[in-house]
Amino acid sequence: MKDFGDTIAAIATAPGAGGLAVLRVSGSRALAVAGALMSEAALERASDHSLHHAWAHWPGRPAERIDEVVAAIFRAPRSYTREDVVEISCHGGPLTARRLLAALEAAGARGALPGEFTMRAFLNGRIDLAQAEAVADLIQAENEAARELALSQLAGSLSHDLAEIESAIADAAAEVEARVDFAEDVGGIEVPPNVGEAIRAAHSRLAALLEGSAWARAIREGLNIPIVGKPNVGKSSLFNALLGEERAIVMHLAGTTRDRVSESVEILGLRVRLSDTAGLREGGEPIERLGIERTRAALGEARIAIWVLDASEPLAAEDLAIVGALAARRVLVAFNKSDREIRLDRDAALASLNGPAVRGVQVSAITGAGLEDLRCALVELAGGTPHEKPNGPVAAHPRHVSSIERARAALARSVDAARSGECGEIVALELRESLDALGEVTGRCASEELLDRIFARFCIGK
Ligand code: GDP
Repeated sequence: MKDFGDTIAAIATAPGAGGLAVLRVSGSRALAVAGALMSEAALERASDHSLHHAWAHWPGRPAERIDEVVAAIFRAPRSYTREDVVEISCHGGPLTARRLLAALEAAGARGALPGEFTMRAFLNGRIDLAQAEAVADLIQAENEAARELALSQLAGSLSHDLAEIESAIADAAAEVEARVDFAEDVGGIEVPPNVGEAIRAAHSRLAALLEGSAWARAIREGLNIPIVGKPNVGKSSLFNALLGEERAIVMHLAGTTRDRVSESVEILGLRVRLSDTAGLREGGEPIERLGIERTRAALGEARIAIWVLDASEPLAAEDLAIVGALAARRVLVAFNKSDREIRLDRDAALASLNGPAVRGVQVSAITGAGLEDLRCALVELAGGTPHEKPNGPVAAHPRHVSSIERARAALARSVDAARSGECGEIVALELRESLDALGEVTGRCASEELLDRIFARFCIGK
């Protein structure tokens, strides 16, 4: 176990009124520090995993009582951080907890930085970096799917897979390197078939981790989906229908949604921020043009957009004016007003788009027909299967995805190098490169700066 030199303390519960508040103390002096507030409980002699009732007081001043508390003792290494930890439960409300924290600091603890307890758990080897990040995700999860994804990562689903893959690659690298050393004077070496096979297997496993990553990322981060289309096709009506409330103003005049209105809604377990935009129409009133600029800005960030067309009218040049702005995006084409007679050439509308994925759905924002199909199609465009969760480990963080991509590419190059009979050193180099990339995910090769960036996302007390 690492000795961090100091003992840290923080309030671990959210501020505000509540039944209880919990403070956490961790470090080699945790028992002494907490014990200084509870002289009658003799914490330093307390046995591991025991609970102690006490009247906490200012250190050195037993008459100056702060609160009636319960202290839980977790001795190293059987604790969250693997250091000695004391968790103090006091009455809820910010004042008591803050007074206790001040008392702990007066007794020699230092106020913890965001995520510092989890950082110690990582640096002490209790969890790897991907699991530490899952702790932050779990705390920040906004829906059930995101919570389950974080929990599975915390339980080690991704870490376990990565550890196995890393170990297979390390074995392959060691074997190739041994042969290179041995054959130094002889020239190139052959990569033995079993090693080649192991590299290919590791490559497929990394590819599998990346397969569901777009979907996992959508679950973790939610999606921004702008609703675009020319004026009067029913964007605001569709926006309201999806939200189930009258949020945007619906007007019979073209060009009334002047500003962008955004709302979050849960669509089949996915957190979706829908934004109703002003009609994309060239020219028009200055205020309308401002709306157009905002629409382009909204589209600029989004991977997926809903393009609304009025299915009761033929496709117009004004509709098609939007196609350019939709390029490179996944587009759900909502053929709205399908409660009326259809006069739109839907195939022509779909064919006008050339992005990575296009889905057309017939809907009526007024009657609600087709809305469920639209929700399912959105989930499919996000890379998921409606009503299904990701199965098996998957890379959900952009950081993990890019490192695993790098590792996979290096493995692919090592396979090529082995196949083309290039010298073993190149094969070994690529294998090491892939190990370094995977080490960034698990934290084996993470720089201090990266760690600081990751743990800064945490709340204090975690
Ligand atoms: P936006 O300018 O694209 O936001 O369009 P709105 O949502 O303001 O709708 C324009 C007009 O179309 C309003 O009169 C709506 O009531 C009407 N409308 C919207 N959706 C439908 C639909 O599905 N069916 C029918 N018949 N009318 C609709």
